[in-house]
Amino acid sequence: MGIRFYNWYGHSEKLVLAGYCEKVDTYHVEPTYGYFELIDEKGNPIKEPGKTGEIVGTSFHNPGMPFIRYRTGDFAEYVGDHCHACGRRVPIIKNVRGRWSGDRIYNADGSFVTTTALNLHSDLYSAISGIQYVQEKKGELIVLIIKSPEYRMNHEKALYEHFQSKLKKDAIVRIEYTDKLRKLPNGKFSHIISSVKA
Ligand SMILES: [Zn+2]
Repeated sequence: MGIRFYNWYGHSEKLVLAGYCEKVDTYHVEPTYGYFELIDEKGNPIKEPGKTGEIVGTSFHNPGMPFIRYRTGDFAEYVGDHCHACGRRVPIIKNVRGRWSGDRIYNADGSFVTTTALNLHSDLYSAISGIQYVQEKKGELIVLIIKSPEYRMNHEKALYEHFQSKLKKDAIVRIEYTDKLRKLPNGKFSHIISSVKA
């Protein structure tokens, strides 16, 4: 639709709020919301662009439960202390990775890939109208697929090869065709339905 995609980062603990500016797709940390730090494995602040660390926040907006230097478990890459495009002098981060481990698909040995890693090439996307991952056991993945009018028999082989190549060799992949994807118990849609514990 020619509309720019806009994203923001935040969490219910109300520690850090960051969003894209009007010019570039990097997260600008709002300094009046909470005190933002990005720390390395040793707990030292990251000041070097390109380095990734954990987001640590101190809330200014939650007097009832003021978390101080709370480790969010979320990770981001440090871009700099100001934005070249809009000129704001606030911490800039990108590539935020969530702590939420629910998008993991596990191999039998406990290693995992995220659903992002399973993204299909565009020619395969045209063959499907809907996709959802179901994992009930480590090393086993069920892929629910709604066929599109473009779907042809040879797509199935390509789909199997794609998913099998993203997981370990001993992983069992099963494609199931459906008319309707599953909802979570709360009625929401999720790209993955997993009953596997980390
Ligand atoms: Zn900016």
